[in-house]
Amino acid sequence: MRPIQSTLKKWLNENENFQQRYETMKKEILADKSVDNFLSNYPEITDEAIDKRLNKLYEYVSQSKQCDKCNCVDDCINVVKGYSPILQWVDGEIHIAYEKCHRLLNEEKNALKENLVKSLYMPKEILQATISDLHYDSHRKHAFFETNKFLDEAKQTLPQKGVFFSGPFGVGKTYFLGAIANRLQQLGFSSTLIYMPEFVHQMREAIKHNRVQERLDEFKYADVLMFDDIGAETMSAWFRDEILGSILQYRMMEQLPVFFTSNYTMDQLEKILSSSTKGEIEEVKAGRIMERIKQVSKEVTLSGHNRRN
Ligand code: ADP
Ligand code: MG
Repeated sequence: MRPIQSTLKKWLNENENFQQRYETMKKEILADKSVDNFLSNYPEITDEAIDKRLNKLYEYVSQSKQCDKCNCVDDCINVVKGYSPILQWVDGEIHIAYEKCHRLLNEEKNALKENLVKSLYMPKEILQATISDLHYDSHRKHAFFETNKFLDEAKQTLPQKGVFFSGPFGVGKTYFLGAIANRLQQLGFSSTLIYMPEFVHQMREAIKHNRVQERLDEFKYADVLMFDDIGAETMSAWFRDEILGSILQYRMMEQLPVFFTSNYTMDQLEKILSSSTKGEIEEVKAGRIMERIKQVSKEVTLSGHNRRN
């Protein structure tokens, strides 16, 4: 008899403890301000309904609500990171639902914006450049003027012409591109920045995999296209006419702006474009490309010291 008695006693004891703990917990949960608020909105909720879903109320109390217990989505303590609980009274039962918190919504919005700047082989510091970081000096006043004019107009609609930044190495031409792309992103426009020498190389690879057309389309459709360091690459006649020519032709027809940076002026670039890798002089074709470049951009020369030193 003895073992049964002691087992029973132990069970009763534990059960009593359980009851006690349950009541204490329930009291604490009901004392929570947000639960109290919820219950006072629904006076029809019975004690029985509360008991049935006390676990849900407990879950609600323990979670961070609209980020009151965490600093960022990564630190979120909730069952699902970035989701905030809400209590609902549906069909005579208490339910808990989760909605995205404002921090997660913000992160998603920013991620969407980030995608507006696509870049191929551009240094990180350029991708982080901002207009407010652009140091003004008299050697670059035209570049500043044209940049501001473009961005000002872009608040209404995208201008038809971008800027052709020409000037020596290190004066900040590429930096301008990064700053413009980031500002355009804030205005909701997408930009694609391409480092020309790498682009030429990539297109040669694309031929091997039969993906030329697909790659070309990416560059045609960006709101704003930016070619960094045109003239620095060795461009074949094929690249010049079929790739560059076709992209520029499309953008010209659609009145979509293109930005360039180059160590050459437009006139110097024309000479470079007229000698393909085969060494042929093809002035007419080069002239045709230059015509398109002039249709989609406006030349600006900048100088000053080499900022890389
Ligand atoms: P370029 O394209 O004319 O050769 P870059 O744009 O690469 O020159 O600029 C050279 C260096 O100077 C980079 O390290 C860049 O971050 C820095 N730089 C250029 N312009 C600015 C600027 N306006 N403000 C701050 N740093 C700049
Ligand atoms: Mg550069």
